[in-house]
Amino acid sequence: MAMSDIAAPTVDVVILGAGAAGVAAAVVAARSGCRVTVIDNGPTPGGQYYRGAPPIDSEPSSGPRDLSYAELRAEFDRLTGSGVIDYRSRRTAYAISRHDDDFVIRLRGDDRHRGEIADFRARAVIVATGAFDRHLPFPGWELPGVMSGGGAQLLVKGSGVIPGQRAVVAGTGPFLLAVSGTLLEHGAHVPAIVEANNPSRFITRASAIRGGLSKSGEFLGYVSRLARHRVPYLHRHRVIEAIGVDRVEAVRIARVDADWRVVEGTDRVIECDALAIGYGFVAQTDLAGQLGAQMVLGADGGLVVDVDPNLSTSVPGLFAAGETTGVGGVEAARVEGLLAGASVADHLGRPPALTRRGLDVVRRDIATWQGFAEALHATFPVRDGWRDQVRDDTMMCRCEEVRAGQVREAIDDLGARDTRAVKLFTRAGMGWCQGRICSSAVDSLCGFGTTQSLGDAAVRPLVVPVPLGALANGQMEG
Ligand SMILES: Cc1cc2nc3c(=O)[nH]c(=O)nc-3n(C[C@H](O)[C@H](O)[C@H](O)COP(=O)(O)OP(=O)(O)OC[C@H]3O[C@@H](n4cnc5c(N)ncnc54)[C@H](O)[C@@H]3O)c2cc1C
Repeated sequence: MAMSDIAAPTVDVVILGAGAAGVAAAVVAARSGCRVTVIDNGPTPGGQYYRGAPPIDSEPSSGPRDLSYAELRAEFDRLTGSGVIDYRSRRTAYAISRHDDDFVIRLRGDDRHRGEIADFRARAVIVATGAFDRHLPFPGWELPGVMSGGGAQLLVKGSGVIPGQRAVVAGTGPFLLAVSGTLLEHGAHVPAIVEANNPSRFITRASAIRGGLSKSGEFLGYVSRLARHRVPYLHRHRVIEAIGVDRVEAVRIARVDADWRVVEGTDRVIECDALAIGYGFVAQTDLAGQLGAQMVLGADGGLVVDVDPNLSTSVPGLFAAGETTGVGGVEAARVEGLLAGASVADHLGRPPALTRRGLDVVRRDIATWQGFAEALHATFPVRDGWRDQVRDDTMMCRCEEVRAGQVREAIDDLGARDTRAVKLFTRAGMGWCQGRICSSAVDSLCGFGTTQSLGDAAVRPLVVPVPLGALANGQMEG
């Protein structure tokens, strides 16, 4: 579509993502008098954490109660119902660019094949698109029945279906406990939780942080539920192979050292019909990357959008909140959303709806949850030893069916010296998911450093596939 076809500004601010961060940002920006449109590809607001769930309360660690998620969500629904917030569900933003001083956001509808598309124009944008699961390949991980922890949560929360009757949960971090809790609650048997790190210092670290106590309480709550169900919690263990013919039938696990290297002679097999794997999350930075926003390494070593203390990115008028600025959990996302809403209002010359005291509380809470996230990532890092189990025939890129041997060959025999060259030689990361599943693992296997490859991934012209016919027939929405 030619630039001259682009409509006049329709709104003050477009918020991309209706998770905890997007909902909070929308309420504050709208209450500050901004015309707000919220775009989200889910069917209802809430994002990954509150998907399909009633808006349960999340206590603010301090400050006014109307900043809790339940209150914010109720207000979001009120403002949406009265037309103050224009909420568009089931739409995916696939590209964003600058036009004069405005932003043009391009959307694709729910049906990705017919995909009606539309453009949107705004004076400011808040990117609150969250994160996706980090995958670390191992032999057999592409077997049916093996899925990410987030995928298992989505299946249960979104469709009310459990992935299997006997589901092993493996990887690292407290998210494994959340996944196991959900599976147990819905009637699955969890034969083991396989945790690669040693979580013993987490409670001490988290409790040392103001507000962290409530989260350590949540952690202990999960532990007691697992104890009730007699679920073995095997720390310093990893799944090194998923075994099966047409689907997963068992997993081979082994004890590992602090670098996740297998201790010889400790492997054993656990029968199961599902495996949920969680190695943390990767911030979804692609849309901000299209605008050339500066990136930085987050506390977990992954790439995140770089923001100043007001959550403004390096691009004037572009703000970021929630997991896009660092993977820190739902509370961090909510309070960052509040601040982003106030900052965007200020940027647009509207008096922010949050009082000075309210803002102080929000800033203090952000610092608290950032501290909590650092404690989390210090306790549950991803260690290099995972690569030892990656055999040459292990699948790396599932969309393009690229195996680890091809990646190694691109480096050792073909002379690739950066991940972009590896991608061009092998097609890893060029498929339907656009590298969301494989890019951090390919990156780590190559060993060239995270910044370069994820920086490349961040500048894809379309962040999701869009049919050419839809592009040709695109029309404005407003
Ligand atoms: C799959 C998954 C499952 C999770 N489950 C749990 C759990 O059970 N317990 C827990 O404690 N934590 C869980 N987490 C972590 C938790 O979800 C986050 O801490 C929290 O949701 C962050 O809030 P957010 O607003 O930053 O992002 P999110 O809640 O992820 O919200 C972002 C929203 O943006 C939408 N979006 C993304 N890209 C686009 C686009 N291009 N166009 C339009 N919309 C877009 C997403 O669909 C989503 O609705 C999960 C994370 C993931 C990725």
